[in-house]
Amino acid sequence: MSWHITADLMDAYLAGGLDPARAMSVDAHLDGCPDCRAAVPYEEGWLRDSWQRLEAEVLSPRPSPLERLLRSGGVPEHVARLLTATPTMNGAWVAAVVAALAFAVLAARESAAYLPVFLAAAPILPLAGIALAYGPRVDPVHELLAATPLSGARLLLVRAAGTLAVAVVLAAVAAPLLPAPAGLSAAWLLPSLATTSCCLLLSSRLPVPASALAAGGLWLLGVAAAGGLTGDLLTAFGPAAQLGYGCAALLISLRLYYKVNA
Ligand SMILES: [Zn+2]
Repeated sequence: MSWHITADLMDAYLAGGLDPARAMSVDAHLDGCPDCRAAVPYEEGWLRDSWQRLEAEVLSPRPSPLERLLRSGGVPEHVARLLTATPTMNGAWVAAVVAALAFAVLAARESAAYLPVFLAAAPILPLAGIALAYGPRVDPVHELLAATPLSGARLLLVRAAGTLAVAVVLAAVAAPLLPAPAGLSAAWLLPSLATTSCCLLLSSRLPVPASALAAGGLWLLGVAAAGGLTGDLLTAFGPAAQLGYGCAALLISLRLYYKVNA
């Protein structure tokens, strides 16, 4: 070997002052030249410190505020990371949900005849979030998901639950503003659970957006059919119907639980 690392170059290299191209050529030379390698001081403390700095930088990207909140609430790190990377967790979807709920509340306050609009729409919002949230076109962590041990149905459940939770919290904030008794104001909650779990069950046979569309369509058809039969659009939100939604949500959730843990 005719060329060796000069003392100046070695000093600059050790101080971390070389541009990447020159640093890499020094690396390459050190790799093949025992003489120059012997000139690199071996300090265990320095090596350990720089490795730890590197490790901290590569392995622990700074978590977002929402992710830190979830983790302080006891959500495991990998679940929190995937939840906060859910596209529906971004501002646009939340803003759309808030706008839809606000519009429905204002309409119902304008005329009680519009109350069913809020009750029928609230279960559609999490479905829309789930439908819009999946697939390579929209998902920034799609490649990561394809390689994660938490793949497939279990992952869909985790992220759908996150989407549902956000929609339920927002609707729960809006519901007390409705001109209706508390029981009726909350009549969207069990339908939300039932339609979301129905969508998840269908998604083992159909693409996720088609499942969401089917579950949402069934729900709206059911509301319209019950209203048409009895002449009262609130029929689908009465106590008997609520019992049905509760049972359906429970049974479908159990089915999903066994499917995922099978
Ligand atoms: Zn050399």
